[in-house]
Amino acid sequence: MERRYFNRQIETGSREALLAYQWKLLKEQLEYTYTHSGLCQRQFRAARITPDDIKSLADFTNKVPFTTKKDLLADQQEQPPYGTRLAIPENEIRITYLTSGTSGRGQEVHAGTMQDWENYFEGLYMMYTWVGWKPGDRVMQPLPYSTAAGGFGHTLGMLRYGLNAFNLGMYDTKTKLDYMRRFQINGIFISASYLENVTAEIEKMGQDPARDYAVKTILMAGQAYPLSFVHRMEAKWQAKIFDYYGSTQLALGATCENGADWSGRRGYYHMLEHQALHEVINPETLQPVAPGEEGEVVVTPFRKRGSPYLRFRQGDKAKFFPYGSCDCGRPFNMLEAGTVARYDDMMKIKGMNIWPEAVEDIILSRDEAAEYKGRVFMTPDGKEVVEVAIEFRPGVAPEMKKRVIGRIENDLRDRTGIGFAIKEADGELPRYVFKATSLRWTDERVKGLDRKRMDKG
Ligand SMILES: [Zn+2]
Repeated sequence: MERRYFNRQIETGSREALLAYQWKLLKEQLEYTYTHSGLCQRQFRAARITPDDIKSLADFTNKVPFTTKKDLLADQQEQPPYGTRLAIPENEIRITYLTSGTSGRGQEVHAGTMQDWENYFEGLYMMYTWVGWKPGDRVMQPLPYSTAAGGFGHTLGMLRYGLNAFNLGMYDTKTKLDYMRRFQINGIFISASYLENVTAEIEKMGQDPARDYAVKTILMAGQAYPLSFVHRMEAKWQAKIFDYYGSTQLALGATCENGADWSGRRGYYHMLEHQALHEVINPETLQPVAPGEEGEVVVTPFRKRGSPYLRFRQGDKAKFFPYGSCDCGRPFNMLEAGTVARYDDMMKIKGMNIWPEAVEDIILSRDEAAEYKGRVFMTPDGKEVVEVAIEFRPGVAPEMKKRVIGRIENDLRDRTGIGFAIKEADGELPRYVFKATSLRWTDERVKGLDRKRMDKG
């Protein structure tokens, strides 16, 4: 297979060369963060260490404390709005970005400098190169612009890389499809569930994705899927599917030229280890996991200037594989593509981070509601639906039930930014003696993407 390199020196270099380069950047980031971040200084004081105690990578992973989402939120509360970790004068901030979703546990605030953005773009350039996108290619960018980094981050990255980007985030699916046909768009960047939805729309209109559209490459992001989904979509579109794993702060890893389906098995996210230190740890023992084992992803981004931090626990559960697991020979460690899940019960729905406990607060704070059950699934035409069935207390009149359902729908939309389908439960729901939010929810979307009945041959 033809290999496509963005940074030939790193991608074709040895593991030793990568580790030496990484250590140089890590040491520099450690000094910078300690000198400029109040949060980091407090963490080091509590651990009774200073940067002088860190003389090797092993020292770093054994001694430096972890940073959690909770730490970042507490830090912001202490010194709003950016926290004591703001490491630059405010006039150097170029676009403030927040984690998506306004519900549940709160949004992290990140101050991006020009250099932070250049680093972010560099990760995107490497992924785009692996996908095979070339300057001038027509690519659909379907994410809306918001305070989340994804939408404008990709648009700016595409522009700098040289793509002809179509920013269609604000349009409905039909309009997006019109643009795709009219301009013969040849690459799309999309989530797995939206790809399912778009494909179903095309077929409903009596069109054929491969015959009527010019798409040759699809880059997916941010969602787990069964391998059969990739097979099905590649056959329908006659296009190659790639996938990447990212966070608000960085593109963390991506599939190489081998794609999301590497000759009948799952591909790998090649971790961009020249951009960040990636660890995969057992969340109980906090020790690194063995090859093939699942663990929590921990990230220390390099050259981060605005809101730096060390050893951030992503809360993502992923299967670790060492460098050499893929036949492309790149020196990066890897994660299995398409199987990243969460350790907590956060759900990514319609691109937003939704915490079930925030939903639960709204429902169970109503006196009329006795119990509820939540379910996320995909409709036959590929739409993501969040359905909540409410069991009312005895004696609540039918008109009252209707009114309560309407209220809850409004409150949930205000709080989370997405629509919920609320209905009355058929009969009695199971009772839980204590707070058991995750037991009340099921997520059937991966099963939804595996559906065979949508195949027409
Ligand atoms: Zn590879």
